[in-house]
Amino acid sequence: MRVLVINCGSSSVKYRVIDVGSGEALTSGAIERIGEGGTTHASAVAAILQDTAAFEPAAVGHRVVHGGERFHDATLIDDDVIDAIEACFPLAPLHNPANLAGIRIAREALPTLPHVAVFDTAFHVRMPRRAKHYAIDLELANRLGIRRYGFHGPSHAYVAGLAADFLQTDVSNLRLITLHLGNGASACAIELGSSIETSMGLTPLEGLVMGTRCGDLDAGAVLELVRQLGVDETDHLLNRQSGLAGLSGLGNDLRDIEAQAAEGNDRARLAITVYAHAVRRYIGAYAAVMGGVDAIVLTGGIGQNSVQMRRRILQQLDFLGLRLDEDRNQDAEVSAATPVVDISADRALVRALVVATNEELMTARQTARVVGGGTDVRSPGPVPIAISGRHAHLDRASMDALFGAGSELTVYRYLSQPGQFAARQTVSLIGPRGRIDKVRVLGPLRQAPQVEISRTDEFELGVDAPVRASGKTQGSAPITLEGPAGNLHLKEGLICAWRHIHMTTRDAEAYGVENGDQVEVAITGGDRDLTFGDVLIRVKDSYLLEMHIDTDEANAAELSQGDSSGDLLYSSPDVAVSASLRRKRAR
Ligand code: ADP
Repeated sequence: MRVLVINCGSSSVKYRVIDVGSGEALTSGAIERIGEGGTTHASAVAAILQDTAAFEPAAVGHRVVHGGERFHDATLIDDDVIDAIEACFPLAPLHNPANLAGIRIAREALPTLPHVAVFDTAFHVRMPRRAKHYAIDLELANRLGIRRYGFHGPSHAYVAGLAADFLQTDVSNLRLITLHLGNGASACAIELGSSIETSMGLTPLEGLVMGTRCGDLDAGAVLELVRQLGVDETDHLLNRQSGLAGLSGLGNDLRDIEAQAAEGNDRARLAITVYAHAVRRYIGAYAAVMGGVDAIVLTGGIGQNSVQMRRRILQQLDFLGLRLDEDRNQDAEVSAATPVVDISADRALVRALVVATNEELMTARQTARVVGGGTDVRSPGPVPIAISGRHAHLDRASMDALFGAGSELTVYRYLSQPGQFAARQTVSLIGPRGRIDKVRVLGPLRQAPQVEISRTDEFELGVDAPVRASGKTQGSAPITLEGPAGNLHLKEGLICAWRHIHMTTRDAEAYGVENGDQVEVAITGGDRDLTFGDVLIRVKDSYLLEMHIDTDEANAAELSQGDSSGDLLYSSPDVAVSASLRRKRAR
């Protein structure tokens, strides 16, 4: 399949037509200086469509920087998706408006082709909550969506894949630190194939020193700058006049800065050392976060090309097991034909790899996958695990009875499955033997009420709940609920949730399973390996790949999420331990 990839930025539009099967670029180009001399996004995209029509692309892949909470994967664009991208404008004011302008124009011009949005943030969606949260007021942060999202996802994922191929293993066996060092720059800790931490945060301003962006900065310094300069000027300063450009006073091109440093320019030298220092700090931090590292991957214009910067970054890391080979570093040249070069010494325990990134190819592959013609069906890897605490689903009538007529659920926290949320509201469960308070209600409202508890909870309540798939409540156990507006006795609806895996049709194809199948799942990599039998496969295209077990099951495998007080629900997976599907059984 041929995919036209469009990266519509604020001042330039880059494009490429890629044959996904061969990975070859059939044509490519860039239109710069948008906004000057009558060049608009519309005229740029029109010119691109003219240049690429002869290659007859079957789909269009659009880079979109910020997908917010909503987008976990590349997504077919419709009007609803456009609204959601627009809703992320405040999170990426430099990028999303331009990205969306490109989408609108291209959709109008090519209405018969499928258009797909590929998000920078999607790769990082599974970061554990300890990495996602900033230590600020939790409720406020949740309300305003202020958390770490991470960027450069396609690049980090792409180079991690190439590194794994080069090391002749699966990415799910590796702990990688990927360093995308271009004009924008970010570091990513990739464990078992998943991003578990990355240096860019709410916006692409945090983390490493960049061409013109400041990277990490004391929030107190930001406040002081805002006091002195105002918001807009501070924004401009930190995004456009900082980083290498701000430190060196020589612009953002490292080649110029290195040339001046060689001439003795002290600001140029300062810029280089501050830059390398920041990268080294992240290497140390991420090695600690993962409890070790197998390979460090350098990519982006600087990572791929600057011998000197690579040396500064990777020097004296012997304590980590990394030893740079000076000659290999000097000679390293990556290209489409040789996309990976090892620059570490033979005996080094940690490999240092220079890898040519190709965000456009990754975008094309993901686009092809979404529209169904791709070769990049996800290879079955480990399945992330989420632990469900006890919880209740309500319908309209039970909501009225427990919280008052016409009352509505309010969002406490969005859950990993799209559209699902933990509500602020809680209820008490009352059984013949005892009660359990503060049981979280999950939204949105459903057709029928359903309460899910663990085996341990059964003893506390004195009830006997059958193991059931969600929604199969007919003939299940009775339970009394207590809410602020009154009690409600359910004749049925109490179940022990059948452990299950949510997945999309494509995941199901990749794993060779179908909706309703039961599989065995081996939990490995933790303190106590364990195999769960009778795990139910649930397939729906809106699902996010995730295995759900209850707190008892998690305890058995020592998959602790800390709190099992019932206030904790579907907590984001700590991917330190993952499950792999073992074999298919008859239905
Ligand atoms: P973008 O993030 O815009 O895609 P790139 O990945 O192309 O940017 O990286 C651009 C950066 O790479 C620039 O700072 C440029 O100076 C740097 N760069 C490119 N080639 C070299 C080189 N040979 N030596 C040092 N820096 C280089």
